[in-house]
Amino acid sequence: MTLRLIILGRQGAGKGTQSIRISSRYGIPHISTGDMLRAAVVEGNELGIRAKAIMDAGDLVPDDLMMSIVTERLSADDAQGGFLLDGFPRTAAQATWLDTTLAPGGIDMALTIEVPDEVVIERMLARKRPDDTEDAIRRRLDLYEEQTKPLLSHYAERVATIDGHAAEDTVEGRVAEVIDAYLA
Ligand code: ADP
Repeated sequence: MTLRLIILGRQGAGKGTQSIRISSRYGIPHISTGDMLRAAVVEGNELGIRAKAIMDAGDLVPDDLMMSIVTERLSADDAQGGFLLDGFPRTAAQATWLDTTLAPGGIDMALTIEVPDEVVIERMLARKRPDDTEDAIRRRLDLYEEQTKPLLSHYAERVATIDGHAAEDTVEGRVAEVIDAYLA
């Protein structure tokens, strides 16, 4: 059985940490579009050159570019048994595109990790990524509210909301509980 998951949640909600844990727990690849873009920037390839300024400003990389990156990644062998997509979809166009790409089934479940505002900002300022300046953080949080949060209603029938304001192990247990219930 395949397990095709996406994970939503604001920046600083602990998506990245939980994604790594869930991916190893269920043996599915963790596909983080942010990690892929950052790798392209470090490599200095054409994608990286295009994406760098956009990412530094906290803006969104154009949909068509994201779709082609994700198309390529999802066609790899290791993604055929399922995956955990982290950071994609982020816009309605990306979500609609993903539905079509995965038709007829679509994704199995959309996980969303929720944490209070003050925790998000505190966690984000504590990490040391080049795009974690205060302006870029604010921009990313605004874009999340505006473009990504509405995806929760797009996936209304398959969303699992997880309270992320707890220790990492506890949050992992909560995520595993909803996935196990789905698989049972
Ligand atoms: P965060 O969750 O902190 O925003 P990510 O690692 O998911 O960080 O993404 C970092 C940056 O990469 C985003 O701010 C954006 O510029 C770009 N990016 C990642 N995924 C997407 C996407 N699906 N669509 C558009 N831009 C994206």
